[in-house]
Amino acid sequence: MDRLVRSNLMAVKEKIKEAEQKYHRFCGSVQLMAVSKSQSIAKMKEAYDCGQLIFGESYVQEAQAKMKALATLPLQWHFIGAIQGNKTRTIAETFDWVHSISSLSHAQRFNTERPSYLSPLNICIQVNLDNEENKSGVRKEELVPLINAVNEFPRLSLRGLMCIPKPLEDPEEQYQSLLRLKTLFDQLNHQLNLSMDTLSMGMSKDMQAAIRAGSTMVRVGEAIFGKRQVLK
Ligand SMILES: *Cc1c(COP(=O)(O)O)cnc(C)c1O
Repeated sequence: MDRLVRSNLMAVKEKIKEAEQKYHRFCGSVQLMAVSKSQSIAKMKEAYDCGQLIFGESYVQEAQAKMKALATLPLQWHFIGAIQGNKTRTIAETFDWVHSISSLSHAQRFNTERPSYLSPLNICIQVNLDNEENKSGVRKEELVPLINAVNEFPRLSLRGLMCIPKPLEDPEEQYQSLLRLKTLFDQLNHQLNLSMDTLSMGMSKDMQAAIRAGSTMVRVGEAIFGKRQVLK
């Protein structure tokens, strides 16, 4: 059996631990989401065998097939992709978390469609930090009304904020960029008297900078599973 996922996963976990120490974060305060979009079920199983339980997926159909194949495992499924209106019901019925909420209409639909036999759907609101035209996420100005709305929905549980900043190479610049979301997160928690506990930021290439900036959940794909393949 190919041990690549095992050694990659161990290396990523070690990096998280080192960054926690280096940046004075509590040990274990940063969770690792394994982003398995466009990765095989076999690789996901290998990650599970090494103790990985949190998986992130971006494509609803692909995720459904994986959930079916891995149904006996106690995995936590996080949706991190673009939300299409005709897929909200499936997401509401099968995922534990959604990190990519950026509109009131989607929040409304998830609230209506979340089955009553499941606990409320955990929600992070995606913030478009750099106001990029072609990227999803709300702008800073739109955040407060959406937060207030999500907070009112009984079938949703507001957990925090998520971002995918413009890619930067320099670790110091990555840190400065990510720090903007941490600042916003702290301000909102304080001003609106919220208890958001999740700052979803950091990917394979900016994981350390994100931990330094206060991330509580890094979303790591290729550093664990290798280059993404087009499945099917
Ligand atoms: C694909 C993806 C990731 C993982 O990216 P890597 O560079 O493979 O670590 C993280 N977050 C989101 C929202 C993604 O779409």
